Amino acid sequence: MVLTTLLTPSSHKLFLFFLSFLSFFCIVVVMSVSPLLLLFPYLIACCFHYLEQKAKPGDFLAAGIGNIHGVYPANWEGLSFETLEAINKTVGEMPLVLHGGTGIPDDMITKAISLGVAKINVNTECQLVFAEATRGYVEAGKDKQGKGFDPRKLLAPGVEAIKAKVKEKMELFGSVNKA
Ligand SMILES: [Zn+2]
Repeated sequence: MVLTTLLTPSSHKLFLFFLSFLSFFCIVVVMSVSPLLLLFPYLIACCFHYLEQKAKPGDFLAAGIGNIHGVYPANWEGLSFETLEAINKTVGEMPLVLHGGTGIPDDMITKAISLGVAKINVNTECQLVFAEATRGYVEAGKDKQGKGFDPRKLLAPGVEAIKAKVKEKMELFGSVNKA
């Protein structure tokens, strides 16, 4: 069953490119000042996500094939590849977007990619590794050692954890060295 048909109009292309560029620029520049400033590109990414969901028909199709935002429940039945295949045949060359990328098994991800998924949104998984790394830092008492309370130090393990997670996902998705 197709749950959603969310599309991005081509008129937004330039604007979306600008947002992507701005996000990258912000990350590179502000990381030298404070990891806290990562909030800015994060907010821009949120805007991007919002636009993608609210935009009218155009270049991409975000398909509902059993995927959900957040953590999947224990009784989740997995992605419906039958639905994905039908959508892929219907829309032809149009790239498909898979929201709710957190917790989908790797083999399902690679199969989804083979059936037309060209963009996968992973947010919760990044948030979880950030929280875990930050908790580890605090629970180890590092915020009480020297100037360990400095946000640039306190948030650094979380930032590194997200970077490692993104690298892992890029390798799985086959998106390394691709725009
Ligand atoms: Zn989403």
